[in-house]
Amino acid sequence: MIVLKFGGSSVASATAMSRVLDIVEQAAQSDRVVLVSSAISGCTDALIAIGRAEDPEHQIADLLERHISIINRLFTGEERTEAAGDCRETFSEIRCIPPVIESFGELLSTRILARKLACEGYKTKWLDSRDLISTAVGSGSVGGPVDTKKSYKAIRDAINASPETRIFVAPGFIARDADGHVTTLGRGGSDYSAALFAAALAPATLQIWTDVPGIMTTNPKIVPSARTIPSISYKAAFDMARYGAKVLYAPAVAPAQEKGLHINIRNTFDPANPGTVISSRSSGVCEWKGVSALDEPIGGTTTVCLTGEGPISVKGTVRRIGTALREAGIKALDAVREEDKHNFFFTVRTNVSRGAVAAVHREFFEERALSVIDVYVAGAGAVGTALREIIDACSGRFPAAGKQIRLVEVSSDHSFADRVLATARSRSVFVDCTDSTDIWRKFIPLLQAGINIVSSNRRSLAIPYVDYAAIKAAAAENGCFFRYDTTVGNALPILQSVSDGANCGQGVTLIEAVVSCTLNYIITSYDGTRSESFATLLRRAQDEGLTEQDPRTDLGGRDALRKLLILAREAGVPLEEKDVEIIPMLGPEFFEGGVEDFYRKLEAREPEFIRREDELDAIGKRQRFVATLQREPSGAYRADIRMRLVGIDSPFYWISGTENVTVIQSGQSYPLVIKGSGEGASLAASGIIRNILQ
Ligand code: ADP
Ligand code: ASP
Ligand code: MG
Repeated sequence: MIVLKFGGSSVASATAMSRVLDIVEQAAQSDRVVLVSSAISGCTDALIAIGRAEDPEHQIADLLERHISIINRLFTGEERTEAAGDCRETFSEIRCIPPVIESFGELLSTRILARKLACEGYKTKWLDSRDLISTAVGSGSVGGPVDTKKSYKAIRDAINASPETRIFVAPGFIARDADGHVTTLGRGGSDYSAALFAAALAPATLQIWTDVPGIMTTNPKIVPSARTIPSISYKAAFDMARYGAKVLYAPAVAPAQEKGLHINIRNTFDPANPGTVISSRSSGVCEWKGVSALDEPIGGTTTVCLTGEGPISVKGTVRRIGTALREAGIKALDAVREEDKHNFFFTVRTNVSRGAVAAVHREFFEERALSVIDVYVAGAGAVGTALREIIDACSGRFPAAGKQIRLVEVSSDHSFADRVLATARSRSVFVDCTDSTDIWRKFIPLLQAGINIVSSNRRSLAIPYVDYAAIKAAAAENGCFFRYDTTVGNALPILQSVSDGANCGQGVTLIEAVVSCTLNYIITSYDGTRSESFATLLRRAQDEGLTEQDPRTDLGGRDALRKLLILAREAGVPLEEKDVEIIPMLGPEFFEGGVEDFYRKLEAREPEFIRREDELDAIGKRQRFVATLQREPSGAYRADIRMRLVGIDSPFYWISGTENVTVIQSGQSYPLVIKGSGEGASLAASGIIRNILQ
């Protein structure tokens, strides 16, 4: 037995009905058929409205007219007159009491179909589903549950009583309750009727024909790029249906599942499409199935549900949904919830529900082809670790950039660069987040092998200018990139702004930078309250890992020097170390002897430091350790690093903690001031990722 169910849009017009008849006749070639049909689309809604109307005459006349016009197109001559007479008679029986009134739509549509099939010469029998399907509830209740034992027997008896019939036609949706009154199986219930017929007649084929090519990854009327799901488990189909995928009425799943019948959902308007098969089959791997949306009856909210099968990472999924919504600028009203590790829900205002469905669909079902970048990280310290964490958290996927990072290895091994050189594919990226002073010597061979380089290691850049220029040239010659934005100001867009300024015609005329996080931290902590001595603050900075092993390296301006070299070269000025005049913030006597000795000397000078700060307070100034590159009127550049006194009108006056401030002036334009945090491994890691994806 083949049970074929057609929905409202499949029988909405004479043309649509002709397609239905073709499909049914085709099926009847191979087996006996039960055709279950819905009312013509919109009919049930119209009947409900008629039931509520004060004066429904007009609406009844309109509905009659729709049916008569279908009959006029489908039949000719005597047959037309008889079909129309039959239709008018059914209309005359309409009683405006719910739920009885709702049952008339299916009576009308199926009588037309049965008559047409009979006219075509098929042995056809119209079955009255009201006498076959019984619910187990009393009067006034709709939607079941169905008394399957009783219903299955009645269906079987009816079929067995007509062995000569080739095509049975039965109205969907309608039934009788336990008290014998006409009832319905709930809105969308014709799918359920069909499943009950198929289960009663098992083994049977069950096909649900509708206006879409199957269960799709989401409602195609909301997201046109929705795809048809070729195969889905009973459970996932049931979950999608109960959370709003109207293509299937959820209660229809159980009768089929109990009898092990596959449900095949097909498109009446594209019969060659195999559609969706619902069965117990599940691939055993994590597979996303679809996104559904269910409007809540009150409150103007919608629950969106993502359904999947197989082993699913709850945490990862919750995070991906959160990211998708954030990227779409949509705020969920609650946290993402999870049910049995296969359904993930959140609630949004109904007015943004379409956007929410589209965003989740894009994230889970519209896998854009991401180009894969192999990344090798030298340096397993704080930055290398942060880099791994960021990449792992999103499984390396950066859809906005269209790229996928494959983190091949993070290593502090000295021979790592050689290993990368021997094994990495060209177009891979080698990341230097070491503090090595000689790793840069591997850069040219790497670039020559077609491997790109990203560095956050200032020591790899603050090398003799000829070497720096040779690396840049090797990158250009081999079509590779060599990026190191995080070497100055961490994730702040300082180097980019300097090179933009350098390329603006008149070049960079002035760079002033307070870029030493360590010094800023100590100086700005000190210049406020002075509750701790300068030596104590410095020691704390050292303990927090903000300084070099020997903190005097920072105080001596060495780190600032490296940054100034990088800045100057980015501005097109071939600066060398020897060109920079450095006036350390402490006298030469501090730089002799061991670190502990140094701290003692510093402590001894504390009263002097306080006096100096008090004097500065009195004149409204503060001290800042500023690196400057300035173009002289002659065109030559002067570079120095020294303590400068700045007033309240200077961008350097208000700096706190590890903030950096850089002023860039190019040509006649106003200075560009870039201010922000210049410290932190995860900021550096995010800057490196930007450089990789750029
Ligand atoms: P029928 O009248 O054939 O029973 P329905 O209107 O009840 O058809 O269901 C089909 C409609 O379900 C489609 O037109 C589509 O807009 C909607 N729909 C919602 N979610 C989905 C989904 N995930 N896949 C396919 N269609 C869906
Ligand atoms: N005609 C009914 C409805 O509109 C049942 C169905 O279409 O499945 O809800
Ligand atoms: Mg339906």
